[in-house]
Amino acid sequence: MPRPAAHASDAAAAPGDPLVDTHGRVHRDLRISLTDRCSLRCTYCMPEQGNEWLAKSSILTLDEIVAIARVAASDGITTFRLTGGEPLLRADIVEVVRRLAAISGPDGRPVDIAMTTNGIRLPDVLPALVDAGLRRLNISIDTLRRDRFHELTRRDRLDDVLDGIAAAAASGLRPLKLNAVAMRDVNDDELVDLVEFATAHDAQMRFIEQMPLDAGHTWDRSRMVTQDEILATLSSRWSLEPVPGRGGAPAARWLLDGGPHTVGVIASVTAPFCGDCDRLRLTADGQLRNCLFSTTEYDLLPVLRADPAAGLDVDIDRMLRSCVRGKLPGHAINDPSFLQPVRGMNAIGG
Ligand code: SAM
Ligand code: SF4
Repeated sequence: MPRPAAHASDAAAAPGDPLVDTHGRVHRDLRISLTDRCSLRCTYCMPEQGNEWLAKSSILTLDEIVAIARVAASDGITTFRLTGGEPLLRADIVEVVRRLAAISGPDGRPVDIAMTTNGIRLPDVLPALVDAGLRRLNISIDTLRRDRFHELTRRDRLDDVLDGIAAAAASGLRPLKLNAVAMRDVNDDELVDLVEFATAHDAQMRFIEQMPLDAGHTWDRSRMVTQDEILATLSSRWSLEPVPGRGGAPAARWLLDGGPHTVGVIASVTAPFCGDCDRLRLTADGQLRNCLFSTTEYDLLPVLRADPAAGLDVDIDRMLRSCVRGKLPGHAINDPSFLQPVRGMNAIGG
């Protein structure tokens, strides 16, 4: 994978300036992957066996994550979303949240801390996470049927996920979002059930079009369930009215029977939303990425570890700007020359 150095023309932008790419998109959201490890093995994300884990020595320490996050916040990043792999597998997860939540932007406002999780372990750690400053949760659940869950995730842990969702629903964290990848002949007969389950938990259901990000590279366009199909299925049960004002959000939303509940669809394949993308990604091993589908990474490990005394903040800032400047206008999944990233979703950070 190409490892570009910082761009010479980045000298034009000063630390503290917003992270604006060459297409005018201002970056506000940093997805921080805390680990590539996971308690599940979802078929669309990880192989059943033989995954090549990141070397422990290359995983960012808490201090390193905070060093990057501080510079990102000073450059206008307002949201940190913790992900993975499974972020709750990180032993220092409460401390990660506490340290990140203490960071403020240039206007003095604290950053917003969100997490995407499979929900396992949430009942144990959620009170401490909330106390540490976690503000929002997205929990993934693709099916409500135990046998299917086992087959799809290769682990018999549906009850643990349901307990996690119950804990989240009982907490004050709102909006609460539940994510499902819609898959043909796997869970496409459960779309209505999942929305009803979500609304019963005061949560917003969001369906994700399956993307070519599985570690096994088995994605097949003809197998994916499209946004149009999802909406057609849901409209047999509810009237759907588009919610305006999406901004940079990945999900387009619809009011169910006039509201207040909504459903979201993340249609990265059939209705890409790259023109409004405000996201950057940091992998657990210190690689900055400007897109889920990027085949280029910007390596912060040498910056962090070579000579920590030598202008670290300036060097992190330069690398952030270089990554932003390298961002393409769109992901080109639909281009015949599209190349799937080498890393699977668990190693990129979803
Ligand atoms: N383990 C956590 C979880 O599952 O929520 C966080 C990491 S996971 C990679 C983040 C999100 O990516 C999940 O909602 C998951 O469903 C989604 N995801 C993973 N692989 C995907 C794929 N190939 N296409 C679409 N979404 C995918
Ligand atoms: Fe784990 Fe999330 Fe990937 Fe499923 S989607 S294998 S829960 S990282």
